[in-house]
Amino acid sequence: MVSKITGARDKIESKGKPRNVGFKCAVKMVAEKNYSQLKGSNVLGFIEGTDPKLKDEYVVVTAHYDHLGKRGDDMYPGADDNASGTSTVLEICQAFVEAKKAGLGPRRSVLCMLVSGEEKGLLGSQYYAQYPIFPLEKTVVDVNVDMVGRVDDEHKDNPDYIYVIGADRLSSELHQINEHANSTYTNLTLDYKYNDEKDPNRYYYRSDHYNFAKKGIPAIFYFNGTHADYHRTSDTPDKINFEKMTKIGHLVFYTSWELANRDGRIKVDKK
Ligand SMILES: [Zn+2]
Repeated sequence: MVSKITGARDKIESKGKPRNVGFKCAVKMVAEKNYSQLKGSNVLGFIEGTDPKLKDEYVVVTAHYDHLGKRGDDMYPGADDNASGTSTVLEICQAFVEAKKAGLGPRRSVLCMLVSGEEKGLLGSQYYAQYPIFPLEKTVVDVNVDMVGRVDDEHKDNPDYIYVIGADRLSSELHQINEHANSTYTNLTLDYKYNDEKDPNRYYYRSDHYNFAKKGIPAIFYFNGTHADYHRTSDTPDKINFEKMTKIGHLVFYTSWELANRDGRIKVDKK
């Protein structure tokens, strides 16, 4: 083996050109794993329904509040991913509370939940689906908001759009309710590109709603698509399009409101 290497080295020296040398050898590698256990918490806000017949059914509205944190000296602010979704869910939660104070509370109960550990593999929502506070059989829907404050390249000329993912996978009614809320109140362009089952990005499987869908609970996911600052230190608040974000917040609210107030619970009519 040594002669093969020195022979190759000599040839490289004499010809002045690089060359590859292949040889068989046994390699022993040792990799030590370091484990550190971190704790995260899901944060839940509960608005009890006002209709005695429907208040034991639950509409869940989610957004993940974790991001990438700090790596070395780099801080990842995560303004779009997912402070935009987190603040949208807080606003929606507040709107439901205000409605209830005014004597117009939702008929079904609404659970606004900010989950952690999404970026580590949807961990917070997985935990909730495993150890739910309210029975999953009584959970009507998950409405999930993850990245709603920016505009992707494809829509740079029309910021009033949103990708809608998953709505029709389990329940055609959920899809219709969102479409109807949009045509009645918000008139955004609903883009279903990423809802295509063949879409290679597979976003349907990549945010917290999927842990509900996996359990057979209809789920809808609002998403603005990625951009140059996605998962970078440059995902900062000054780049958020607040006007666009407000419009999407309205759509998420109107859809959630209808899901919480309509007579019949939406049906699962698809596998
Ligand atoms: Zn996210």
